[in-house]
Amino acid sequence: MTRSHRIDIGGLLAGSRQRLVLDDAVTIEAFEGIAFPDPARVHLEMRCVDRMLTIEGTVDARAQGPCDGCLDDVDRSIHVDVEERFDPRVGDARDPFGEGNVLHGDRLDVGDLAQQLVLSAVPMGLRCRENCAGLCGVCGANRNAGDCSCDR
Ligand SMILES: [Zn+2]
Ligand SMILES: [Zn+2]
Repeated sequence: MTRSHRIDIGGLLAGSRQRLVLDDAVTIEAFEGIAFPDPARVHLEMRCVDRMLTIEGTVDARAQGPCDGCLDDVDRSIHVDVEERFDPRVGDARDPFGEGNVLHGDRLDVGDLAQQLVLSAVPMGLRCRENCAGLCGVCGANRNAGDCSCDR
């Protein structure tokens, strides 16, 4: 597992006025049947504003999984506009994203951050189209392809 995308932001947190720009490709782990075949493209700009770590940028990924209705393969691009603020003084004690910790002292875990951003942007249940007709409950035919013979 190559998830060691930790970058040192100690300089930023120490109050330097620099801006840190990061371009990276990050592997996103599969989640609840949804796979991410390509590494997510991550572009982030980090600054320290009023002692808050500000992260702005974009994350682009591709999600693949079965349609919730008809089980057809769905291939969707995921685009995330990032605008996050972290309080570095809180550090590991409280995490704005819940489960994972993205800030470890002076290090920002870009892998975890990208993973959480992408997952938060994936719709609950992929759909092949907005009005997917789903599968016939009787014969299991894909009703997007047309009515099956057991239609009322
Ligand atoms: Zn469908
Ligand atoms: Zn049918």
